[in-house]
Amino acid sequence: MKTLITGGAGFIGSHLADRLLERGDKVILLDNLSTGRYENIQHVIGRSDAEFVLGSILNADLVDDLVSRCDRVFHLAAAVGVQLIVEKPLESLQTNIRGSEIVFEKAHKYTKPILVTSTSEIYGKNTSDKLHEDDDRIIGSPLKSRWSYSEAKAIDEILAYTYWRAKGLPTTIVRLFNTVGPRQTGRYGMVIPRFVQQAVREEPITVYGDGRQTRCFCHVTDVVEALIALIEHPESHGRVFNLGGEGEISMAELATRIVDRVGSSSKIRYVPYDEAYEEGFEDMERRVPDTGRIRELIGFTPERDLDAIIDDVIAFQRQ
Ligand code: UDP
Repeated sequence: MKTLITGGAGFIGSHLADRLLERGDKVILLDNLSTGRYENIQHVIGRSDAEFVLGSILNADLVDDLVSRCDRVFHLAAAVGVQLIVEKPLESLQTNIRGSEIVFEKAHKYTKPILVTSTSEIYGKNTSDKLHEDDDRIIGSPLKSRWSYSEAKAIDEILAYTYWRAKGLPTTIVRLFNTVGPRQTGRYGMVIPRFVQQAVREEPITVYGDGRQTRCFCHVTDVVEALIALIEHPESHGRVFNLGGEGEISMAELATRIVDRVGSSSKIRYVPYDEAYEEGFEDMERRVPDTGRIRELIGFTPERDLDAIIDDVIAFQRQ
């Protein structure tokens, strides 16, 4: 089995590559190293079962060649991270819309099963107790960068779903909730690597807003295992799945938990949203996944809890 991973040098893509190689598969990793990092995949360079291609999903000829040479596609390449989206709105949109369109078009041309990672940002400001895949989206103006990201990923989902419905292409859509683990950087927003880095350096922990907003976190190892099980399950085709962790926690509590586990003397500093992102920025107050659908299909239950996640990130950063 030869698998193409777009975004293969990224945080999740590189872990997925490791797991597939461990299983004896071959991988092609396409990445333009905009947010992906060479260090994430350096250990597989030179292996006969791994090929790294430096390039963009916007290069249709390149994508055509790679898709023609693989058996299936994990489409992970995207502009991600709230901070990045706010800072580079145009590039983000182009990658997430035009890039995805190219990848789907080629998957269809060569009839290759494709899994696309979408996002819990799809639900926007919906603060339901548990967000179900069929729940409504509540989003703000598309002129706000955060919501334009949600719109772009919604278009990816529509593309995937329509290729399945209209053309019978085996597509699987996965809405990733907050995914964390080694190799993730805090440069583009991601809260846990940021808090850990601040705690390790004994710097103030920057909690945005009033810190009462909540999230659930899932370890990247649990996530990649589920992605593989999903693409290999025929009943995943034409469907969308939430994939996320358990244990809702507020950002203020998370800051304290991380300071404790690091054994740091860092203090919490509350930063207004306008200062942290941009004027008029809207956060999501709450984001809790309903994972019933994915549990039913592939028996998904996360094996690693929040403390294990935090400890892994601490170990990675200290290393
Ligand atoms: N956050 C924070 N301090 C930081 C970075 C993020 O308080 O230094 C908050 C952010 O405002 C959000 C939550 O942590 O409420 C999760 O942010 P992240 O960017 O990790 O993911 P999101 O869930 O927003 O996509």
